[in-house]
Amino acid sequence: MKVLQNFKAVMQGRIKKAYKLMEKCCICPRKCGVNRLKGQIGFCKAGLLPMVSSFHAHFGEEPPISGRSGSGTIFFTHCSLRCVFCQNHPISQLGSGKEVSVEELAGMMLKLQAEGCHNINFVTPAHYMPQILKAVFIAKELGLNIPLVYNSGGYESIEALEILDGIIDIYMPDMKYSDSSSAKKYSNAPDYFEINKIAVKEMYRQVGDLKMDRGIAKKGLLIRHLVLPEDLAGSQEVFEFIANELSPDTYVNVMAQYYSGYLADKYPEIDRRITAREYMEAIRLAEKAGLKNGFRQVMSTIMRKRIPEWTDNLKGL
Ligand code: SF4
Repeated sequence: MKVLQNFKAVMQGRIKKAYKLMEKCCICPRKCGVNRLKGQIGFCKAGLLPMVSSFHAHFGEEPPISGRSGSGTIFFTHCSLRCVFCQNHPISQLGSGKEVSVEELAGMMLKLQAEGCHNINFVTPAHYMPQILKAVFIAKELGLNIPLVYNSGGYESIEALEILDGIIDIYMPDMKYSDSSSAKKYSNAPDYFEINKIAVKEMYRQVGDLKMDRGIAKKGLLIRHLVLPEDLAGSQEVFEFIANELSPDTYVNVMAQYYSGYLADKYPEIDRRITAREYMEAIRLAEKAGLKNGFRQVMSTIMRKRIPEWTDNLKGL
């Protein structure tokens, strides 16, 4: 009983703290300073109520996340990054979605759990962290007990992440770029790598290496790195940071599915898919950095399919 009361008190304290961050919004590193509690809108365009584009069981995530029964994904509208190649741009940039109450959001989580999903997977959650936290509290009171996945672009403030300590089970951030000129040009975030490194370190401090039970992720960190044409993501530095500053055991998904979507055709250097050679070079760099665990795309699916198939080691291309 005491544990439950403590949980309630801790959650209520965290929710209060999280909502306070929206008063002069500093939930993400943009630190816009707008009062979202009064309906003001900042860079990400998110308001007070969360907006959800869709929620459903997802079978295309990494094997330990999707498993056999699917990952219970909830796609949030808007984003604090502006990636010109965003594959979800109708949701992240064009505002596709519907405002929901936190009670409705909690109901979505419970529905996904009832459908048998292995986890609740918050996709692009950073700008709605307080509302998600409140909804999690409501849902947990009503029986939510599957792992919570924080699936983000990796551009997070440390203050926001600290509030989630002990609540999020699996962090699944991107590490998009080590190169600040690419981060500026393609995501309007020149400080991306500096912020991203601090955020991912904090995530790792909270949850450690990925732990699985019969192949299904229960807790830990899984990093995604999207290989860009011409090595514009600066993959080597990303892999070296992960291996040296986190752990060589960190799970990394080296992703090959880049394509020229949204506004990418305005940038000739990224207006194409990556080649098999570019992908193989990225895998080589991951191995050279000392990374041992992760996922790479099955070679035969590169360039042919949008939904990749994964193999669970980084070796043996
Ligand atoms: S969450 Fe949105 S409004 Fe708040 S600081 Fe970030 S971009 Fe600005």
